[in-house]
Order: sequence, then C-alpha cells, then structure tokens
Amino acid sequence: MSTLEQSRHLATEIPGPLSTELIARKSAAVARGVANTMPVYAARAFGGIVEDVDGNRLIDLGSGIAVTTIGNSSPRVVEAVRDQVGKFTHTCFMVTPYEGYVAVAEALNRLTPGTGEKRSALFNSGSEAVENAIKIARTYTGRQAVVSFDHAYHGRTNLTMALTAKSMPYKHGFGPFAPEIYRAPMSYPFRDAEFGKEMATDGELAAKRAINVIDKQVGAENLAAVIIEPIQGEGGFIVPADGFLQAVLDWCRANDVVFIVDEVQSGFARSGAMFACEHEGIVPDLIVSAKGIADGMPLSAVTGRAEIMDAPHVSGLGGTYGGNPVACAAALATIETIEAEGLVQRAAEIETLMKDKLGRMQAEDERIGDVRGRGAMIAVELVEPGTTEPDAELTKKLCASAHRAGVIVLSCGTFGNVLRFLPPLTISDELLLEGIDVIAGILADIR
Ligand SMILES: *Cc1c(COP(=O)(O)O)cnc(C)c1O
Repeated sequence: MSTLEQSRHLATEIPGPLSTELIARKSAAVARGVANTMPVYAARAFGGIVEDVDGNRLIDLGSGIAVTTIGNSSPRVVEAVRDQVGKFTHTCFMVTPYEGYVAVAEALNRLTPGTGEKRSALFNSGSEAVENAIKIARTYTGRQAVVSFDHAYHGRTNLTMALTAKSMPYKHGFGPFAPEIYRAPMSYPFRDAEFGKEMATDGELAAKRAINVIDKQVGAENLAAVIIEPIQGEGGFIVPADGFLQAVLDWCRANDVVFIVDEVQSGFARSGAMFACEHEGIVPDLIVSAKGIADGMPLSAVTGRAEIMDAPHVSGLGGTYGGNPVACAAALATIETIEAEGLVQRAAEIETLMKDKLGRMQAEDERIGDVRGRGAMIAVELVEPGTTEPDAELTKKLCASAHRAGVIVLSCGTFGNVLRFLPPLTISDELLLEGIDVIAGILADIR
C-alpha cells in the first residue's frame, strides 16, 4: 500500500528537470489539442498529495477533476482491482456477463434518490453516459428535442458538445453539432443580481424565465428531455437559487418530459450528499454518474425509473467496454469506502472549513466576488474590485503561481474567472488549509 508523506515539499523548481524532459517528449509525441494544467508529471499520489517525477510533493486540490474523491489508490480499491485483474480483465458484459456489473447496478439503484423501481446501465465516460441518457429519453417519449442550460458542460463527444454551452475550447471548430438541442437560461445567483435581487434569490422566478424559453421556442410536445447539472461544474460551480430545480422538474412532470440530472461532477459524496440533487429534495427521472464513481477507473452510469430505463429495445444499449469488470470492482470498493468511512459527512465538514476560510478572505478582498458551492466542491469567483466584471487574467496568474508553489488548483467558469477546489475527501484539514493559505498569500502579493 502507498505510504506517501502527507506534506508539501519542493525538491526542485517547478517544473523540475525530469518533468521538463517529459514535457519536451510530450510536445513531440502527443497531439497539442490534449493540454495539461500542471507543468509536472505525476509519479505517485495518495491522501492529499501528488508526488511528481522530480520528488516534489504537491497539495492536491483537484482530485484529477473530481475523480479521486475517496483519495488516490484508496486501499479497498487497490485490493479489489488487484483481485479482479487476477481473475479476468474482460469478457464483455454483452457476451459473457459477470456479477460485478449487476452489483454496481444494484448499488446505484439503492444509492440514488427515489424509492420506486429503478434500473441502471453502465458505460465508460461521462460523455458516453450522457449520450445514452438522451437515447433512453428519446425512445421513452418518442420525441427528439433536448434542452440544456447556459454554462452547461456535458462532454466532448458530438451530442454532448451540442449540449455544452461554452465554445472555446470545447466546441470551437468542431461543428456541425447534433440537431434538436436547445438552450435555456440558468439560475446563476451571483450574475442574476444584475436582473434584480429577486431573480438572484427566487429560484421559481428564474425557472419561469427558463420555462418561457422552453415552452415558446421548443414546445413541450416536441421535448424528450431537460438535462441539468444540479451544481454546474465546468461552468463555474454555479448553485442555482433555491426552488429552481424543483420548479423545472415540476414543469417536466406536468408535460411528460424526462428530467435528467448530470451528476458526473457533483455526485458520489462530492457535494456533502451522495448526490447533489438530494440537497434540493428532488427525485429526477434519470441520473448520470461518472467521475467519482470508481476512484479513477473508467466507469459511468445512467440510473433511473424502470419504465424509462427499459424503454429502449433489447440490444439497443451497450458497448464493448461498458461496465468493465475491473472498473466495477473499483466502484464497489469505492462505495464501500464512502459508506464505511463516513465520507459524505467528511465532504460536509470540508465545506464548513473552506467556506469559513474563504469567507474571511472575501470580507477583506473586493476581488473575491462570490464564494459558493457545496461539500468539497467550492469555488471563488474573481472580479474587478467591487463589480461583477470577470477577472480571468487574475485567475490565470493565481493558478500558475499556485502550481509553482506546489498546489494543484483548477480554474473554470464561462468567463474563466472561477477558482475551483475539489480536494480528495481524505486530505487532512492541515493540508487543505495550507493549500488555501498558499493561494491567499499569492493573491495578497498580486495586489
Ligand atoms: C466531466 C463531465 C462530463 C464528461 O465526462 P467525461 O468522462 O469527461 O466524458 C459530463 N458532465 C459533467 C457535469 C462533467 O463534469
């Protein structure tokens, strides 16, 4: 088992000589479209630390984009994966099925909100699962149109690019995109304040604005599904105003439209609940999971009401690798770890710790326009002092300096001005606070 010292340590400048060599090899061998946030190459990772090839130990506030929620190489996962690899690596679930796949489906049916009969189907990536959720909704309703929202991110495949809002870098030059995709206005409290205090705080009002667009520009009788992230990820960790999700869901129910939540980033304990939609007490028709589901093994899922999930014809769903046995073993070990170690509660503790610290920073710094998020999915939105004008330059500078100081931190947001924190839930309070202190120090220096 990995025993990586849990402290930040700079053995060389960042990047060090071995990373620099690998960066040169990468430029010569890998397509430039595949970019890297960090200028260092990983050698090991455990707890709250990623160690690079030069022996630098970095504080991990990114979890490989919300994937290693239970910590890298989590002991139960390592054991389960080793055991499964020794037995068989692949038979294809569509050819010779195996228990692990069924057990993951049972676990998902149990863990997702809603008490009715459910079914699940497994895939490889978040994008692939989103595509399948749309396929399922279309066969169930016999309709074609799909609505997604401003600031949405649903993936990089053709259909999911169409669902995604932001052009650069996700869509630019990659069209034409899938037809019958429509976009509705999102509830974005920090920016909706421009439309008056009520729009920022009244989720039902923001939902009315969205439903007007959906009703008039698409029409309920054409609409198969509405898909939404209950907390938007790449779009800027946007938490919609209270009541927004429920009002959109109510409209969907009244019009026989399938309500899909994309919990690829917000799911699996990340938000301080197993699924973020639980914070709003809503029960969606379909839930898409991926990222945190299997501690880094490629796995994704669609879970939902049995009559919807069973709409596609026999053999209509599947894929060569979907629900790979090694990934399923990792997912079962991940779920066991979340439950045995109380990690949902740990995410809620991290929220309290981070919001307290970041809230105090915000009180003294007008460049921090907003502190938001849930659980271990927290962000700060950086603006020109005292305005809502996005400051992407500052965000970029801050991230680059944090990386050189040994802190892995990511940016996001439609305007590129959101600093997001996605620490593994196994990080110690000390490391987490040290990481934020480093960022606070850099922010003070930039002033
Ligand atoms: C990452 C992400 C996806 C896409 O998942 P991939 O595994 O990268 O295809 C879809 N939706 C959301 C909300 C995501 O964060």
